[in-house]
Amino acid sequence: MELLYARYPFLAEARAAVEEAGVDLAALVAEGGPAVDRATERVEYALEEGVVRGPHRRPRVELLSYPVARVLVSLVDEHVLTRKYARAEARTAYERFTADVATETELRSTADTSLTRADLLAEFDLTASVRAVGGRYRVSVGTYLDLAADQRDDEWRLVNRELRDGEVPLTEGELDVLLEAAVRERVGEGLPLSVPESVAEELGEPVEHLTALLSDLDFTRDIDTVVPELFPPCMRALLDRVQKGEHLEHHSRFAIASFLTSIGMATDDIVDLFQVNPGFGEEATRYQVNHIRGQTSPTEYSPPSCATMQSYGDCVNMDDRCETIAHPMAYYEDTLDDADDAEVTDWREERD
Ligand code: SF4
Repeated sequence: MELLYARYPFLAEARAAVEEAGVDLAALVAEGGPAVDRATERVEYALEEGVVRGPHRRPRVELLSYPVARVLVSLVDEHVLTRKYARAEARTAYERFTADVATETELRSTADTSLTRADLLAEFDLTASVRAVGGRYRVSVGTYLDLAADQRDDEWRLVNRELRDGEVPLTEGELDVLLEAAVRERVGEGLPLSVPESVAEELGEPVEHLTALLSDLDFTRDIDTVVPELFPPCMRALLDRVQKGEHLEHHSRFAIASFLTSIGMATDDIVDLFQVNPGFGEEATRYQVNHIRGQTSPTEYSPPSCATMQSYGDCVNMDDRCETIAHPMAYYEDTLDDADDAEVTDWREERD
């Protein structure tokens, strides 16, 4: 069974097996060694390739590297990493279980290193809401909506699906995609973990390495898309106030201006956007924006975190997504990720 758990470490039984083996996480990380190395590699691959690769030739190392990788991700504590890590674990699990299912169909047998769809449905408590009907599946609409929520293609929208007696028919391949979503949810559950100081100290080096890797890849700098409808509620509210000509306190002006520079807006574009506000003042806006982007100051400023926004009273109209993030940039990355590209029009294109 150890090999099965090593291949699918998110299984509840795999976690129980680690607990039963009495593995002391603090001692494991203090030792360093292959489990910590493989854990670091899991996260590196997640960032760079979108899968976790492996497995390590020793199943025990592979299995133990999973909880250590979750601790590493928690210590780096960046939403973009947590999201990419959960996606990469889920993608790897998907590749493995679809291969297992194909082998099972061909050989009509399962080894105890493989999973079937039925195993996965049972693992995620989906046996009652998904049923097989003649080589296809039907899934209850509530479960469908939960698991298909992150799918971006139009074909996943409920309005584009057949709905029969409260169930959505699915092909085998479509069910596999939803099972991948269930794995992603499981991997992300509880992250970031609260990590004891002693464990954090032992992992200082890999955490520093992963933080540097993340900043080299710098996903936030990739954003060069201005879609106000997808802004976090706080930034939409601030932009509304600017455009209505309301007076904004310095911290609020800083928050919206730094957010707009961080999503790739040029100073002229920001001035254009603010120009409708008669009290704003072109020169003052231009000066502030150039200062924030580091042109007239030694520092390039980032927008404030949710905690800072809350302390200044700039966090308003929170929605469900706000519960899952700690930074307005993370909110925007998420909404852009989830949006259908065909429906996203950059404000700058609309204006031209
Ligand atoms: S929780 Fe964060 S993203 Fe959401 S409204 Fe508040 S500050 Fe904005």
